[in-house]
Amino acid sequence: MPKPPPPAAKAAAITPDKPAASSKPAKPALTAKQLFGTVKTAAPLEARAIGWYAKGCLAGGEPIAVNGPGWQVMRLSRNRNWGHPNLVALIERLARETTAAGEWPGLLVGDMSQPRGGPMISGHASHQVGLDADIWLTPMPDRKLTRREREDMSAVSMLRNAGEVDPKVWGEGQVKLIKRAASYPEVERILVHPALKKALCEAAGTDRGWLNKVRPYFGHYYHFHVRIGCPKGSSNCRSQAPVPSGDGCGTELADWLKRVAPKPKPPPTAAKPPVKPAKPAPPKPEITLADLPPDCGAVLTAGGHQPPTKPAAVVDRSKNAAPEKDKTISTAAPAPAKTVPSPTKASTN
Ligand SMILES: [Zn+2]
Repeated sequence: MPKPPPPAAKAAAITPDKPAASSKPAKPALTAKQLFGTVKTAAPLEARAIGWYAKGCLAGGEPIAVNGPGWQVMRLSRNRNWGHPNLVALIERLARETTAAGEWPGLLVGDMSQPRGGPMISGHASHQVGLDADIWLTPMPDRKLTRREREDMSAVSMLRNAGEVDPKVWGEGQVKLIKRAASYPEVERILVHPALKKALCEAAGTDRGWLNKVRPYFGHYYHFHVRIGCPKGSSNCRSQAPVPSGDGCGTELADWLKRVAPKPKPPPTAAKPPVKPAKPAPPKPEITLADLPPDCGAVLTAGGHQPPTKPAAVVDRSKNAAPEKDKTISTAAPAPAKTVPSPTKASTN
């Protein structure tokens, strides 16, 4: 993704039409996440990813089976094991091929999309159009997990510290798994923590072409995030800018490692500047149905679904609801590509 737009432009993109100052404020309708977060079934329409990864919806979504050859779906209570059929096929293929090659014991599949995509009540900013999936970096156990275990089992952090992986849990298996995922042409990006990217850069040897798609980003040390491109036939799907060329192991990675490094403590003798009470930032406006592409209205009501008129409680039964949160991904739509982003200010996710 190109450089995020300045905050003002971002806000404008989310609330395109401010009501005139004189008009009486209308009673707020339900937010898009309240509408899409409560739908239990797919929109019975032709499969289409609609809109942008972080502002869109999904028609004709398909669930990945909760158990399959080489995978198990986690956190079943969230009902987020839905995606565009291309994404489902891709995960099935990755599970099949990585296990057949003896690289990895099987996938623990984390969040994909909701049945009709759209924003989620908790967690992710992206995952809205059925083209994103989180895969745990914890190997699949050699048995069928119970539903309860799939809620309670914690993903394992791959980090020893902000800049290094933990060799006790990270190894060749994760490298091979991510490399294979990156090898599929429909995969456009894989997001991992900068320390994981560093480990991959070090492990890659001379075969480095695949590293290009593996982008460093905040979070993503319990799981990696696979993003596929807009499928054929999804005419209203908004493509992401291609990844910059090169393996991304140089200045871009160094810059990311600086970003995630713990801030150095000021020397104890330094005079402390008076602490000004910080003014709380105004809450980010919630995405409404009107902010989504127009087709998402039809997706929401397809098959006779009656959206709720009052906010409904959404239950997430997992013990620690979201160890694999990645809410900072792609909150903004891509800014128009006017300038070539500086390679040191990489923000490509
Ligand atoms: Zn994700």
